[in-house]
This record gives sequence, C-alpha cells and structure tokens, in this order.
Amino acid sequence: MNLGALNPEQHQAVMTIEGSLLIIAGAGSGKTGVITHRIAYMLEQGITQNHILALTFTNKAADEMTHRIKKMTGKKLSNLTIATFHAFGVKVLREQAKLLGYRDGFSIYDSSDKREVIKDSARELGMVLEHEDLVDIEHLFGQIKTGIITLADQTTGMQNLFQEYQEFLYLKNAFDFDDLVARPLALFQSHPEILAHYQQRYRYIMVDEFQDTSLQQYQWIALLANQYRNLCVVGDDDQSIYSWRGANYTNIQAFEQDFPERVEIKLERNYRSTGIILEAANALIAHNTNRKEKALWTESTDAEASLQVRYLENDQQESEFICDTIRTLRVSESRSYNNFGVLSRNNSLMDTIEEAFIRHDIPYRRSGGRSFFERKEIRDTIAYLRLADNIDDDIAFVRIVNTPRRGVGKQTLATLREHSDNRKESLYCTAKRLLDWEKPPFSAPAVAGLRDFTVTLDQFRERFTLHKDMARTAGDMIEAFDYWGGLLREYPNNDKVAKWKYDNIFKFLSWFERWEKNPDNLEPKLSLYLMRIALAGRERADLDDTAMVNLMTIHAAKGLEFDVTFIAGVEDGVIPSSKSLQENETNIEEERRLFYVALTRAKEKLFMTVCHQRRQMREIQLCQPSPFLHELPSNLIETEDKELEPEDIERLGMSVFTMFKD
Ligand code: ATP
Ligand code: MG
Repeated sequence: MNLGALNPEQHQAVMTIEGSLLIIAGAGSGKTGVITHRIAYMLEQGITQNHILALTFTNKAADEMTHRIKKMTGKKLSNLTIATFHAFGVKVLREQAKLLGYRDGFSIYDSSDKREVIKDSARELGMVLEHEDLVDIEHLFGQIKTGIITLADQTTGMQNLFQEYQEFLYLKNAFDFDDLVARPLALFQSHPEILAHYQQRYRYIMVDEFQDTSLQQYQWIALLANQYRNLCVVGDDDQSIYSWRGANYTNIQAFEQDFPERVEIKLERNYRSTGIILEAANALIAHNTNRKEKALWTESTDAEASLQVRYLENDQQESEFICDTIRTLRVSESRSYNNFGVLSRNNSLMDTIEEAFIRHDIPYRRSGGRSFFERKEIRDTIAYLRLADNIDDDIAFVRIVNTPRRGVGKQTLATLREHSDNRKESLYCTAKRLLDWEKPPFSAPAVAGLRDFTVTLDQFRERFTLHKDMARTAGDMIEAFDYWGGLLREYPNNDKVAKWKYDNIFKFLSWFERWEKNPDNLEPKLSLYLMRIALAGRERADLDDTAMVNLMTIHAAKGLEFDVTFIAGVEDGVIPSSKSLQENETNIEEERRLFYVALTRAKEKLFMTVCHQRRQMREIQLCQPSPFLHELPSNLIETEDKELEPEDIERLGMSVFTMFKD
C-alpha cells in the first residue's frame, strides 16, 4: 500500500487507528479516501477483517469503498463489513431473527408495501382510510419508529393502529425500512449480552457522511463503540442534506460530548475540483450562517476547466443541450460516458432528460427515486420471488395471486382474508388449507386458478431451497406462471411493449445471475438477494458496469464525483425548492447546502441550465433563475457567446442581466 500520496493531515488520520477521531472537512478533501486507506492500513497491521465496521450512506458508496480497499490490499474481503446503516441492520436482524420471533428469510417492506399493511391493519380495526390518510399515517409511523415523536403522545386510535400494524408485520415475517435501524438499536439497548457480543466483534468503527447520520443511527453506533472507543467519524456540516428526515448535524455536537478524548483533524485541501468550481462553491456556502467556518483550497488550475450557465427556452431545449454537449465533449475531449453526471433537485425533472437520452441513443443509468425496480413487471417478478422465499409475505401474495389473471377475484380474496384473519395464518397457507376441503368455498375458476398457483409455486419453492441456479429457476418460474401470455393479453395490439417488458424481467434476472455466480459471494441465497435489492432499489446500485452517463438527484449524488457535471433546472422554486420553503423558511440553508453538494461533484467542468419555461405535470410554468446563482461570483461564470436581444433580457429579468454584463 502506498501512503506516500497522502498529505500530512490525511496521513495522520490514516495512522490514528486507536481512539476516537473526528474529521469535519469540506467537499473533496479526501474524507472517504481517508477511511479506505485507514482500513487498508488496519488490515496491513494485522487487525482481522471481522473487527472492522465501516458505515456509509449508499450501497454504491459501500461497494466503491470495498472495491478500492481490495485494489489497495489485493486481499479477499469476505469478512469485512462495509455497509449502509440499513444493510448493517439487516445483518444484525438476520443473526438475531429468532430472538425476535422472526424466521430466516424475512421480507423488507418498502413504502408501497407499508401502505398495504396499514390498510390491512385499519380494516382489522374497522377503520376506513382515504389515500391521503395512508400517506400521512405512513409518515407518522416512520417518525415514531425513528424516534422523532413518541407513540405515547398519539391518540388511542392511532396507538391501536400502530400496534396492529406491528403485529401484521410480524405475522407476515416482514420488517419495514425503519425497523432496520430501530430494531437493532432496541435490541442492543435491552439485551446487554447481545450488545457485548457485537462490541467484541466490531472493535474499529468508521462512519462516512456523518453529518447525515440520524439521531437513532448515532445512538446505535455510539453504543457499539462504547467498549473499545475506536470510533472514527468523517463528515461535512456544509453537506448536511437530510435534516428533514431526522438526520441532524447536532450529532456532531453529541459526538463531541460523548467522546471528549477524541482527536480532531482538519483536511483543507480539495483534490477534486478545479479552482473556479471550488471558488464558486465556497462563495455560495459562505451565505449560510449556521456552519463551521472552513478553509478549502486547491492547486488545480486546469485549462479545460469551466463553469457555465446556459439559459434555455424550455425543458426540451435543456435536455437537447445536455445531450449535445455530452456527445461533443465525448468526442472532442475523448471522455467516456461514465465521466458525465446530470443532476437535478427533483426526480421529476429527470423524465424529460431521460427521454432525450433515449432519443439520442446515449447510454445512461438513472438512480434515485423511481427506477427500474418500480416497473410493474419487475415488482411482479420480485413478488414471485418474495413469496417463494417467504410464504407468509401476504403483500407479495396479493400482488401476484392473480397476475397473470387466473380467475382469483376480489370475492376469493375476501374469503381468503376472512379465513386467514380467524386463524392468524398467512393467505398462502389459508389457500392451501381451504383447497383441501371437500368443497372449497370458492368459485370453480378460482379453485382451478388457486390450485394451479399453489402447486406451481410449491414446486419452485422446493427448487430454490437447493441454492443452485436460482436465476435460472426464477426464469423458469416466470415461464411456468405464463407471464408472457399475460403480457400479450394485456397488450393485444402492441406486442412490442409486451416484449420490452418481458426483456426487462430477463435483464433483471441476468443481474441476479451475475450476483449469484460472483465468486466473492459466499452465501448465494435467494433471501439475501431479495434483501440486497430491497435496500438498493431506491438508488439502483451499480448493477451494470458498462460506461453510461449518470442521471440522478442531488441527494443520490452525495459523495460521488464526475469530470463533467450538469445541474439542470437551476431555477427559483426548483432549487431552492418552493415546497421546502413553504414548510419552513429556514430551509433555505438546507437548500443551499444541497446546491453546494451539487456544485462540488464537478471535477473539471460544470454546466448549469436555466429554463424560461418548464412543463410541470401538464402545465407550462414560467421560471426565474435560482437566487443562488447571484451568490456565485459573476466573474467566474461563462455564458454563451450569443448576444442577448432586449426582449430576452426583459424576459429573463434584470437580475440575470447583471450577470451577463460582466
Ligand atoms: P465528499 O465531501 O464529496 O464526500 P471527500 O472528502 O470524501 O468528498 P474523496 O471522495 O475522498 O473526498 O476525494 C475526492 C477526490 O480527491 C478523489 O478523486 C480522490 O482520489 C482525490 N484525493 C484525495 N486525497 C488525495 C491526495 N492526497 N492526492 C491526490 N488525490 C487525492
Ligand atoms: Mg466522501
């Protein structure tokens, strides 16, 4: 391993492996790099992989760290734990499932599954809920679980609903997303012997992106580190962008209090961005009042560097501009598609841009928010797999028992539900039990459909337990259920769409196969794959590694870097988001931090686009440039050469005129 490239502060941070360490430093100063070097150094010092735990924010970041350490050390890293908080939670829950009364191979419920469970719980209590109620209750339950509000403060009705909801999750052998942190924490708090076990195991703990760690997550690692007190946290308060979901940089203060013996190291040199980009980012963030003052400098003065703002008529032109620029730069500066990133504040803005990429045949990967995994055919496939893995997963059952159609209608489901509620037995087991009756209480087509469904599923459940050729088994299962026939019936006049959807399924299964056949994968089990995609679904972790342009929200881009970065929709109301400001005016600082995160992703070139009109939903809206643009020193910004016509100036507003003047 070569430590020579590190600067003196980074070097000190890497060598300080005993005790607690706090590194609060600006973007691109090598914080993540310090963690990877530190782990490599620990391994070199003979610390066993088992004793090391590194936590980070996205699966992509975790994979990248693992990859780097592997390259540095040339070691197989099968016993090293580098994970997101949620993935680490899954690991603990799997090990402790029995204690909680859960079986191995539990399901993980996302937002839409959660709403189904809330609906079921309400039905059980005789409550009627509207869709908006569901959304609000889901949010409320999340806040209860993450410890932001307490259950005791809720009305009795709500408390009952919450208890029922928990009971339902338990019956379905499922955890929801919030449980993945809340349950392990509760377990550590209530079982000292379990805590001691994990404290002995994880003696060296590191946390990246510490500013976005939630209170609960902090409590969890602080407990874990309390025995050996080797806890290293790195972060940047200027990049705190999750305060709305309980992540809060008061954790930095909590850490300072809980670990008074800590060493603090400052990293002030930015290695990522060229001078102009860094200068612009520094000027922007200086407008925030609530921050730790930091110096951040760079030596990079690249001739290719530039910072540009482009004013465009509408979002169509915006996406054309982005595609054109990428194509041109790729050829003229021989850059690979990988080196481009396109960011936006809102995921919805990305739809138009994505369409342009498709039109122009530019390979891209979109992450954050709605994704490949949310397509109906993929959700269906996952539901088949989930049910094969966990027969108590009623949500998956309901989703696919009649997909493709096999005569199992509402009435049949209602009957099934009634019988399953009485016995507190899953729908699947209930169906099998009732089918054994001499006269099953269903219509003739429903009996045939259910019988076919359960027999086929049982067959495949059997095959999955062999833990061999699972992706192939999954493909066979999709065929056995005649998903293709279902698609053709659904799109009778458009078999192109059917074909595309069917291909998506097999693309998904090819990722599954790649995961399954990866020699580093020591435990290729269906339940583990399902957990992995449940965790990665929202960010679509790198399942595909061919060169593609990266399209993502700013939130999803945290910690990443791109040679050429585009920020689309730099408009008032988009960033800062009017929705966020309506909730609370003080959110302006968080919005500025978001913009700061976006700016600091760029290494050499940064393009910001501003539209005059934008289509949102079905309406055309007139837009103004983001006020944040005025906070960037105008001498740094290039705009297009074209002379502005007087009406352009009027249209764009005086504020912009001042920017063009320079
Ligand atoms: P962020 O705040 O965005 O998460 P960070 O502080 O984690 O950023 P890194 O991602 O670790 O920063 O590093 C930023 C870039 O700087 C990377 O490309 C990294 O390789 C490079 N870098 C870091 N330290 C050095 C160094 N000593 N010499 C050369 N390059 C370095
Ligand atoms: Mg980082």
